[in-house]
Amino acid sequence: MLTLSYFSKFPSVYKDREPSVKEVSFVSIEAERTENKTIFIRSSTGKYKQEIEIFDKDIHLNSPCKVFCSCESFKYEFANSIFRSGSLLQSISFIRSIVSRPKKKNEYNIVSGCKHLVALSRQATKIKLKKLKEE
Ligand SMILES: [Zn+2]
Repeated sequence: MLTLSYFSKFPSVYKDREPSVKEVSFVSIEAERTENKTIFIRSSTGKYKQEIEIFDKDIHLNSPCKVFCSCESFKYEFANSIFRSGSLLQSISFIRSIVSRPKKKNEYNIVSGCKHLVALSRQATKIKLKKLKEE
């Protein structure tokens, strides 16, 4: 499983996408602890929704995580390589069911997040967690 830090930057072959990260603005970002002792982050840009599950007690850059974004770039370019790295939040069969025919392929098959996940990963450590509900 890859870390939050990994998704917070583009691998060198995708460095030209760096300016696109600034175009990403979120209409909502929420994070809460789950019963499985992970932290679930949900965000939305309005058009697309992002999910990151953090496998750690708190959100750190070196926390292992699984990711998902509903955008085309994620589904077509990156979902498969992320699946192979063990960091795909949704099942690969779910991804395959929503990808009818790949439009663009990831010619390098290098693991990366889409610009939304890169932007969210950079903000993730600053997100305030909702308080745990009282038992
Ligand atoms: Zn995306």
